[in-house]
Amino acid sequence: MSNVKNPPAWLGVMGGGQLGRMFAHAAQSMGYNVAVLEPAADCPAGQAANRLIQAGYSDVAGLDALAAQCVAVTTEFENVPADSLSRLAQSVFVAPNAHGVSVAQDRIAEKAFFVASAAKSGVLPAPHKVIATDADIDAISEDLLPGILKTVRMGYDGKGQVRVKSRDEVRAAFQSMGKVACLLEKMLPLAYEVSVLTARGADGSSVVYPIAENVHRDGILFTTTVPGPNITADCAAKAQHAAQALVAELGYVGVLCIEFFVLADGSLVVNEMAPRPHNSGHYTIDACVTSQFAQQVRAMAGLPLGDVRQHSPAVMLNILGDIWYEGEGDDVREPAWDKVLALPGANLHLYGKEEPRRARKMGHLTFVAPTLAQAQQHLNAACAILGIEP
Ligand code: ATP
Ligand code: MG
Repeated sequence: MSNVKNPPAWLGVMGGGQLGRMFAHAAQSMGYNVAVLEPAADCPAGQAANRLIQAGYSDVAGLDALAAQCVAVTTEFENVPADSLSRLAQSVFVAPNAHGVSVAQDRIAEKAFFVASAAKSGVLPAPHKVIATDADIDAISEDLLPGILKTVRMGYDGKGQVRVKSRDEVRAAFQSMGKVACLLEKMLPLAYEVSVLTARGADGSSVVYPIAENVHRDGILFTTTVPGPNITADCAAKAQHAAQALVAELGYVGVLCIEFFVLADGSLVVNEMAPRPHNSGHYTIDACVTSQFAQQVRAMAGLPLGDVRQHSPAVMLNILGDIWYEGEGDDVREPAWDKVLALPGANLHLYGKEEPRRARKMGHLTFVAPTLAQAQQHLNAACAILGIEP
């Protein structure tokens, strides 16, 4: 391989959140140095990195410092300005590139990409319509309702979404979102949700992890279970084929996660994609031969992609700031980690965030066990200890 970047070279990451932190851990364990570009002084990735370049995501001096230090740069959140990735790419290898990230960060471009790739991927997104003006609302066809109005940009964890039953509700929701460009999506009868994590190297080779089944609560990922207890072999094969076809169509290099809906009739609908490791892939740290973060390192460094084999059934639980609070008050106390870690197969990952705000992702717990039933049983015990409704 020609473009191999060997340790101890510097790898750069745009963004200072938990995904950047876990990327830094993986890269450093392989002997790389890590530089993080992030405007916040104290951030999860900055605590782990060898160097924090404290700068805005579009700050030219910051970007140039990152490019000068590193042999390759990746991103840990999808709202990194595509122009910044293009600037970096003038002097350093960037994976994923601006094109892949810009498609994933714009719901219109993303849906158009899914539709255009359907012949190859075998999957379609939910029926949808762009809502950019009041006239677009008049033109909504009845069969898109009830639906969900989603902002085209910057949505995450269910933020920037309103469920709407009628044209009047669409009008009110569009108004409440300040009339920014939106997408109206038909509300589909979901049986369950899955995500498919995939990685593609610069040489065009790709790998796909086992299908993860996801449960959301209040719009935020609650648990990920792998192997998914509901998914059929046929549906899993279709989802894995679709994911690999989509990354190939995009000419993508790096780790990418695609979320799918499985409907009551067993059919598969593609929802959205994240151009980076994903919350639903955190289980790979403890349950797979190669974690999603080690895979990100390999892809950007021009190394062979790693074995995606899952060696243990796993259940991941997101740890939100809520569990630091007792009842409705403002008093915080540390959760009983000693009791949780006494449970078999418990792996605790905390992200180093100072302030345990409610609904804020503070960490996650992954339970691995010889059987999925045992992992689930230990997870339920952890929920009881932490005061989480299982
Ligand atoms: P995140 O970034 O956390 O994955 P998001 O805010 O980008 O989420 P989506 O993934 O599009 O938004 O939607 C959040 C959740 O809302 C989905 O996981 C699903 O449970 C539900 N949902 C979204 N679109 C639809 C739909 N068309 N029909 C039914 N449910 C939907
Ligand atoms: Mg989503």
